[in-house]
Amino acid sequence: MSEYHFEAEIVGSSEVPKDHPRYESLVTREKIIEGMHQKIVAEAGLIAHGRGEAFDYILGEETPPFALNQERLAVIMLLLAEKPIISVNGNIAVLCPRELVMLSQLLEAPLEINLFYRKREREIAIEKVLKEAGAKEVFGIDPQNQSTIAEISHQRRIVDSRGIALADCVFVPLEDGDRTLALRKSEKNVITVDLNPLSRTSLAANVSITNNIVRAIPEMLQLAQTYRKMSSKELKEERKQFNNEKLLQEALVFMSSRLKEIANDKNIFEIL
Ligand code: ATP
Repeated sequence: MSEYHFEAEIVGSSEVPKDHPRYESLVTREKIIEGMHQKIVAEAGLIAHGRGEAFDYILGEETPPFALNQERLAVIMLLLAEKPIISVNGNIAVLCPRELVMLSQLLEAPLEINLFYRKREREIAIEKVLKEAGAKEVFGIDPQNQSTIAEISHQRRIVDSRGIALADCVFVPLEDGDRTLALRKSEKNVITVDLNPLSRTSLAANVSITNNIVRAIPEMLQLAQTYRKMSSKELKEERKQFNNEKLLQEALVFMSSRLKEIANDKNIFEIL
């Protein structure tokens, strides 16, 4: 009897076969699960990830052209900001810590841990992940530097007085609608990454990137390397090419067209 051998990546305690057709997605999922066991990701972070996966299926699990333009606009806005900041939660910390730290350095935008489900042990665990990934300083965990943003209740209103509180442009991937709206009301530019183009965050942000964070952050890193060589004048000129609302509409058209195409594809059931 022959044994079936397969090459696999070990993530946490799981093996993901390298020849699986949805390998990348499975590795990402296992990282989130492992992150929860290590108290970096909140339980609700798993549910949020599942919501994201559903929309990524509709995108075809790759970056569409409109998303690259959303990323271009985001990087330009962050480079033009006087005090940009990058907000980090548990999901992002486990999915792309190194790229996030590099992006923060390239854009000169500090990292701030900013959690919906605030827990001291989670803040410390995320800080450790970011420092291991190369971050020199991480805002959002020192009780001496706490400030609040209006319009939000309870602990979720707490931000770092040196970070989000002062920032003119906040990059908040995977954020919830209430906080996005509160940041907008406090006159900050808000940039998000959110696979659901209909979430309140996507609809309320100044720039919404409808893409998976695992693709968006490395792509933004590449774009930042190009755009940071431009002057403010050139960046402002470049920014005129992009319109957030039109790009979000393109995202919705892309998703609905793709669903229609798939529905009309006679070969769709031939996956066996
Ligand atoms: P809102 O309050 O904005 O209407 P929500 O209740 O879904 O939306 P959250 O759960 O805080 O708010 O949002 C998490 C968002 O992040 C979801 O819209 C989800 O689709 C998205 N998301 C989850 N994982 C990823 C990922 N890997 N890349 C991009 N987006 C993701």
